Amino acid sequence: MSAAQAPIEVNGRRYAWPDRPLVVVCVDGCEPDYVRQAITAGAMPYLASALPSGTERLGDCVVPSFTNPNNLSIVTGVAPAVHGISGNYFFDRESGAEVMMNDPRYLRCGTILAAFAQDGARVAVVTAKDKLRRLLGHGMSGVCFSSEKANETTAAEHGIADGLGLVGMPLPSVYSAELSEFVFAAGVKLLESMRPEIMYLSTTDYVQHKNAPGSPEANEFYGMMDGYFAKLAGLGATVAITADHGMNAKTDASGRPRVIYLQDHLDEWLGAGHARVILPITDPYVVHHGALGSFATVYFPEGTDVARLRERVGGLPGMEVVLERDAACRRFELPPDRVGDLVAVSERHVVIGTSESRHDLSGLDAPLRSHGGISEQTVPLLINRPTRGVPGDRRLRNFDIFDLALNHVG
Ligand SMILES: [Zn+2]
Repeated sequence: MSAAQAPIEVNGRRYAWPDRPLVVVCVDGCEPDYVRQAITAGAMPYLASALPSGTERLGDCVVPSFTNPNNLSIVTGVAPAVHGISGNYFFDRESGAEVMMNDPRYLRCGTILAAFAQDGARVAVVTAKDKLRRLLGHGMSGVCFSSEKANETTAAEHGIADGLGLVGMPLPSVYSAELSEFVFAAGVKLLESMRPEIMYLSTTDYVQHKNAPGSPEANEFYGMMDGYFAKLAGLGATVAITADHGMNAKTDASGRPRVIYLQDHLDEWLGAGHARVILPITDPYVVHHGALGSFATVYFPEGTDVARLRERVGGLPGMEVVLERDAACRRFELPPDRVGDLVAVSERHVVIGTSESRHDLSGLDAPLRSHGGISEQTVPLLINRPTRGVPGDRRLRNFDIFDLALNHVG
């Protein structure tokens, strides 16, 4: 290995070279209770044995507690105010269009992965959904592909000619637990073959959207992951695990979704179409959450009395925090040019929608579980090795995981 190489600096933070292969895992939607309950149920024997002598902490993810802002924070080591990816969507006032931010041109800084690759490290990235692949792999030489499109890899684009052949599993459905299992199976094969110094594995929260912590389905999924953590550790890797966000039930006592249809309220107060509600959770894969999360941002035309509307929206039952743009960007470290005039965050068991007519909940075959709010901010930081020099009262973020695993293990 290259432990003798000088530390590298990325986005104002320094990272030492790993003394053995480092695998950072982002478990999508990993409310800390999933791990706790799976360990208690005996479903995660590897972590149960490794954590007492390793590192077991909790940290805060980025709000909005969505997938893309957090994955990008983890791989850049900084907040969205720096890297620019504040959600899956933002409203571009200049073009008057809702813009999807899965293109690397929206990324405003480099990644830790690209910097190590540039310095000569072998780096590999495997992500469940293809929507993240180009962002995570931006500027990076090495292997970078998704489970979803593992059958389409080319050496030129993905650094690997036959992703599907490498893994030896059938191509999984985009809505399946296997989509995440494929990520780990690929990670093990890559560690055995190319032995990357740094690997980043990112799963999908299909299972967590449907199943509560401690349920048989959740425990089975965490048991599957535990088997791969053991394999990766057995191959000599430091395994560092965190999450992009947590997950909570968003239903009432009878299992019905608790939704604030914010566009409908604003249309009633201000006239149809005066305000525009953007839900940054919206993406091409909405079947399992109906595009409902606990975070929304609202754009108003020039001259609107935003302060008054902040109070009014904040008074809606089920709202937790409503802030004007500047205050929201300070509190949540967001890029002001990609945030609306208001930011609204709903309570733990409540989600925010646009208009009732625009949400198709017919695809929900289980009571709604989702994320996006402050209530899904707590995530685990777990490493199969001890860390030193990290005070117990330091507020950790999920995007400190590379710092912990590279600068503090051993
Ligand atoms: Zn996620």
